[in-house]
Amino acid sequence: MQCACGSDFRYEALEEWEDLQVFLRYRCDRCGFHLGIETDHRKASMFFDRPAWTDEAQHRLDRLPPYVEPLVRQEVEDYADRKRITVVSTDLMTEAGNQGMVSWHPDARRRLTRIPGPVRAMARVELERTAQDRGLSEVTVALMEEIKTRYFGLATSRS
Ligand SMILES: [Zn+2]
Repeated sequence: MQCACGSDFRYEALEEWEDLQVFLRYRCDRCGFHLGIETDHRKASMFFDRPAWTDEAQHRLDRLPPYVEPLVRQEVEDYADRKRITVVSTDLMTEAGNQGMVSWHPDARRRLTRIPGPVRAMARVELERTAQDRGLSEVTVALMEEIKTRYFGLATSRS
């Protein structure tokens, strides 16, 4: 997208307005011209080919503890991806959070703690997502076994 002066607009911010409207702000760095687009969440998604967090959603994310932040970011972006939207708003965060109400069977939880740290976060997200996709409310050992074979088969294969 180009400014009248011939320079490219730079994406500056994405603000949440009322009633699921968002406001995209662009700026021309050469002449200082601002361009704003008001649209709804879904249409705004057309402007981004990867997840774009609204200022408000980003603020909520920034307040999370550092070890939780990447997990929440991943979960919400995965959820947005399944919905085929790229604009991540606070509403979407809440929606994704509600969807993420997957509990862990005690045996599965115990087993999760034995998975090495860097893989554990990924495994947890993957398992909860798979459980959600199947409409399960709980991650079980059986599900872990299945996922392990499919995703982590090489890393944890046993004879
Ligand atoms: Zn300009």
